[in-house]
Formats: sequence, C-alpha cells, structure tokens
Amino acid sequence: MRIGIASIALEANTFNPIPTVLESFQSGMLLCGDEIWQLRDSHHELGGFLSGLSGQGVDIVPLLAAGAAPGGILSASTFSELRSRLHAQLDQSPPLDAMLLAPHGAMVSEDALDADGLWLQEIRDRMGASMPIIATIDPHANLSPLMVSATDAIISYKTNPHMDQRQRGIEAAKLITRAVKGEVKLSQAACFPPIAIEIERQFSSEGAYAELLAHAQHMQETPGVLSSSIVLGFPYADVPELGSSTIVVTDGNVLSAQPLANSLGEALWQRRHNLKSRLLSMTDAVQQAHEFPGTTCLLDMGDNVGGGSPGDCTILFEIIQQQHAGPALGVIIDPASAEQAKSAGVGAILNLQIGGKLPGTVGKPIEGKFEVMAVSDGRFTEEEPRHGGQQSFNQGTSVVVQNEELTLVLITNRVPPFSLRQITHLGVDPSKYGIIIAKGVHAPVAAYASISDHFIRVNTPGMTAADMSKFVYIHRRHPLFPLELF
Ligand SMILES: [Zn+2]
Repeated sequence: MRIGIASIALEANTFNPIPTVLESFQSGMLLCGDEIWQLRDSHHELGGFLSGLSGQGVDIVPLLAAGAAPGGILSASTFSELRSRLHAQLDQSPPLDAMLLAPHGAMVSEDALDADGLWLQEIRDRMGASMPIIATIDPHANLSPLMVSATDAIISYKTNPHMDQRQRGIEAAKLITRAVKGEVKLSQAACFPPIAIEIERQFSSEGAYAELLAHAQHMQETPGVLSSSIVLGFPYADVPELGSSTIVVTDGNVLSAQPLANSLGEALWQRRHNLKSRLLSMTDAVQQAHEFPGTTCLLDMGDNVGGGSPGDCTILFEIIQQQHAGPALGVIIDPASAEQAKSAGVGAILNLQIGGKLPGTVGKPIEGKFEVMAVSDGRFTEEEPRHGGQQSFNQGTSVVVQNEELTLVLITNRVPPFSLRQITHLGVDPSKYGIIIAKGVHAPVAAYASISDHFIRVNTPGMTAADMSKFVYIHRRHPLFPLELF
C-alpha cells in the first residue's frame, strides 16, 4: 500500500491588502519530499499522517508541505508555483493507492476564491475517481461543495485553540488504510446552515461550540459513523462559501451520511443565538485588566495576526499609556523599528515610532524614547503542543524595547502569538507584568495560559474585528445569521 501526503495551507484574510507570496511560505514551512519527515514528531497534522501510517506496512510518499502564517490573499503566481511543485513530486513518485491531504480550508488566491477546492479537484482529476483521498482541515475553513466532492472524507480539528491537529492526522491515516483495504466504503456529506459564527464565540472549551462538539462526538460513537465535524468558518474571507458547516463521514455500506450531517447542521442553527459575539469596549477592558490582581492577558481581536491582521495596531497600547495602566507587555510587527533598535544596541536609548505603519492598519505609531533591552535573530523552537502545531519559528530580527509604561517585543516576520517562546527566548519574564496584549482571540490561550490569571477578549477595530457587521462583503452567501437572519 503506497500513500502520498501533501499540504498547501493558508488562511487568507481578503481584507488585508498585502498579498501572501512565496517568501511567506519560505519563512513559514516549505518542505519537499523526504524533508517532510522532519515533521514526524510535530503536533501538526502532517506529523499525525506520518506517525499514523508508520508501522502499518505502508510505503509513505511525502510530496509537499507548504504553510504560511495567516495573511492576505495568495498571489496567483505563488499558487501556481506551489501546485507545480506538488505535481512535479507526483510526476516522480511511483503509483499511489491513496492520498492524505492537509489544506487549511480558508485559502483564497488572486485567481480563485475557492483555492482549496481548486487544488483538491486537480488532485482528484489526476488520481481518478476511485482513489481514496482524505483531507484534514482547520475548523476556520469556509467549506465549499467542491472540497467535499473532490475528497472521500474531510476531518476537521475539534479544538480551538487547535491542540488536536496531530490526533486528527492520525485519525485520517488510520481511516485511509481501512479504506484502501476495503474494510469501509467512505461516504461523505456536508450541510451548510445559513450561519456565520463570529470569532469571539469560537472557543471550544465553553458555550454553544463546546455543546456542538459533544453532540458531534456522540454521533461519531454511533456504529457506521467514521467521522463528524463542526466547521466554524472564517469570517474574514469574503467568498461565496463563507460561514459554518458540518461534515459527516460514514461507512456507506452501513449508513447514509447526509441525514446525519443535516441533523448536526440543525443543532448548529438551533444554538445560533448563543453563537453571537459578546463585545467589551477597549477602555472597559483596560480598566478591568488594571484592577484585576495578577496578570491579565488582553486579547486584541481586531488585530489578530493568526486571522491575517497586520499585527502592528497600537490602539490598546495607547489606551494603556493614557490610563497609566502599565507596565504592560506586547509584541508588535515592525521590521524598521526592530532594525533601528538593533543598530543602536542593547542599553541604547533612542526615539522610535513603533507600529501603526502597515497598510490598512488602525491607529498611529507610538512615538517616544525607548531603551533597548535585548536583541535576537528571532529563531526559537516550541516543544509543547500549541495552536498550529509548529515547532520551529523564525520571526526575524527581534528586539525588546521599554519605557515606563510599555515593554514591546518588536519582530520582523509575521509570527502569530502561538508560543510564549516568542517573548521568553529574549529573556523577558511575562509573569512580571500586570497586562499582556496578545494579538489573537483563542489561539494565544494555549501559549499564555501558564502565565495569565485572566483573559479578556477586547472589541478592537481592524481587519479581524469581532463584529462582522463592520465589514463590507461582496461575494459571501446571503442570507446569513447574524447579518440578515435573526
Ligand atoms: Zn484555525
């Protein structure tokens, strides 16, 4: 049995004007052929594929692993280049019996609103209708009918923060070997209830989403059900399939999948009023954080780097300075200031204009005198299971600068706050701060829980604002709760 594995993954925010290009994958993940084996022990789904297939008498054929940090729309030339690399690997590979694929599910390119559907269908066209193809997706996928028809089974991660990527990869690997052996006949159906779940409600540990996951898990224990997924959707990709969905995979010899997918869709729709976000203003959030004992992590929802926002919005930092609520700590993407501070050297005091510069960002640069406290090349590793499953990071030139109210980690590359090592590798102890700002919504919780006594999700403006009514959509489906339906 010979099984190919491949991934092209990007969460594309269509409101971010900066395109995602090949360099974005080169500073993220871009591995070919046997290079992919280095992911074997990772918490990524590709680690799950490799591990789940090992020891089963399977000849594993790693083809391509391409992943970039969430950002703007994928350039057409990069999309073409990545697909060419994948098909060139297939040209060299011996005949395959099945494929395991890992798209993100919310990728948009300049030439394809449904970029995931496109590359999955190209694989289907090449490999033929009878080859088992199973894909794992991120629950922030905007699932399309084409993605469903191009595959035999899609399995979504179940947790947010995404802590189960490896387990889902293993699950997919076990399922595909059963399918190749003919032990099960994969049958897949999806349901697309007219609802978009706003980002603030997409936490898997509590509330309606947690209930839905329990419901789906209960369904998965029914004989004949092989997998059941709740797909949250990604509010910041303006595409026809924007919104939530459900997927059920059954053994087609035993059970029909469509009624079960519909019943999960109905369960989602019934809980819609508990899936509408609850929003707290910036001034209230900073005041609460200042009053709370211990360390409070303010989650900057509008400038969520892991949702494709710029990562250099300064508004919360400004409010902290105005309210004298510091000392506070946070990370800002600002290559120019990082370079300037690095040139000045540790111990130097210099005038900086920090953040508030990237196209489309909200707020102005923070201006003032800062002392340079530490400098690094921005390379670090994370061994613990964290959102995204990534182990090796390269955030480029990184410096710590400080004034009376703020300690800022200035970084060069788009690295979301998925690992606390982003800060601690520079010698900063986050637990000494009363307020930490993390530019995310749920993903940073996995990384910051050990040093945070409280988390507060803040209704900040930006390309990932929690309130979907703030966005002008052209392509998305209509009507949707909570925008037109109530
Ligand atoms: Zn996600």
